[in-house]
Amino acid sequence: MQTYKTIIEPFRIKMVEAIQVTTAEQRESHLKKAYYNPFLLEAKDVMIDFLTDSGTSAMSSEQWAGMMRGDESYAGATSWHRMRNEINELTGFEYILPTHQGRAAERILYGYLGGKGKTFISNTHFDTTRANIEYSGAEAIDIVIPEGTQPSTEHPFKGNIDTEKLEKLILEKGKENIGAVILTVTNNSGGGQPVSMQNAKKVKEICKKYSVLFILDCCRIAENAYFIKHREKGFEKKTYREIAQEMFALTDGAIMSAKKDALVNMGGFLVLKDKILAAECKNKLIITEGYATYGGLSGRDMEAIAIGLQEVFEPAYLEYRIKSTQYLGEKLKELGVPLIWPIGGHAVYLDAKDFYPNIPVHEYPGQALVCELYLKGGIRAVEIGSVMFGKYNENKKLIPSPMELVRLAIPRRVYTQSHIEYVVEVIADLWNNREKVKGVRIIEEPLFLRHFTAKFERIM
Ligand SMILES: *Cc1c(COP(=O)(O)O)cnc(C)c1O
Repeated sequence: MQTYKTIIEPFRIKMVEAIQVTTAEQRESHLKKAYYNPFLLEAKDVMIDFLTDSGTSAMSSEQWAGMMRGDESYAGATSWHRMRNEINELTGFEYILPTHQGRAAERILYGYLGGKGKTFISNTHFDTTRANIEYSGAEAIDIVIPEGTQPSTEHPFKGNIDTEKLEKLILEKGKENIGAVILTVTNNSGGGQPVSMQNAKKVKEICKKYSVLFILDCCRIAENAYFIKHREKGFEKKTYREIAQEMFALTDGAIMSAKKDALVNMGGFLVLKDKILAAECKNKLIITEGYATYGGLSGRDMEAIAIGLQEVFEPAYLEYRIKSTQYLGEKLKELGVPLIWPIGGHAVYLDAKDFYPNIPVHEYPGQALVCELYLKGGIRAVEIGSVMFGKYNENKKLIPSPMELVRLAIPRRVYTQSHIEYVVEVIADLWNNREKVKGVRIIEEPLFLRHFTAKFERIM
């Protein structure tokens, strides 16, 4: 078979959604009205929306056909069985709880396991994961391997958890005080970096030794499987799905936001091995989400999830997905733009600390960069740094996050290569004019998940 370098999008476009082209003056005014926080922008004023890959996928014609078939019966709907069977076949778990999105599953499980005195340990807790754990009164500790926090160190699995630290922490905190060990694949907040099977196996060994619960945050399990197949010895001949199944088999349960690798706009689930724990969670599900056979979902959503979970493991899709994300990263690297290397699965992460070395961390270089991306090109991205993860000490002084990143999250099956070329051009322009840019200051912020609603002003 002849192989060409160009990877074509393995789909053609059947329906289009117009993008409103804006001028620099319009964007200046929009951003000012949004208090320099792109979360507060109107979506219609954004040209390329890289805010998140969550719930922004384009569904396939098969998924849309499934939407029409959706069975909206309150209990025992056909669509529930279709989704349940699909999840059961993929994960191997018996107890399956549908939720309206990932964080509802987190609230149910970590709300039950958490509480004062409990500790959760993860490679990197995603922001909603950490928030749900801390809201319960428990603490959340991140122990990704050291390479995971070094932006440019080459490592095939920078999402791996530090297993030595894991064992030490379990002993230090006392195994009875560990709520769960949560392995996030791929490691979203740590740069979308993959986790190896070997690492997951080691985590299982440790969790088993101390009888600690091992939970997989499997939002991007298919993307993670791609990296294992192509980077880890012994997996070359396995299918992506088999690799995912092998990883699920190591764990006691999993949480999924279906808005990622199930290729839908809304949905999630919690799967568990333990009957008693599942029964406790099911009670909470029925009180706060919905009856056990729909949770927070419509029948049509469950159909789309069942189909999406199949499509996401198709080799042509996964190759396009991972390689097109890499394409953007490689182009930027060629320009000398500082970024997390190697490129992760769903996003390119710019290193704002190196992009704007003249902006101190307490003036939020990442937030300055997301503002510039919007002003210059109408591109919306998110800061993953001290705005998202920063804390204050007792003197109200910022305790910064270890990295100041800007995430360009790529929605699945949405943008074409020319959109990406445009983004490269905009960032090249920002890179060439980086000296003049100033930081921002927070003028209003909430107690939890402050990056969503905080208001900023520019430092002049
Ligand atoms: C998106 C995400 C969640 C939360 O899911 P929502 O559907 O947004 O509530 C949890 N963990 C990870 C790793 C995620 O990427």
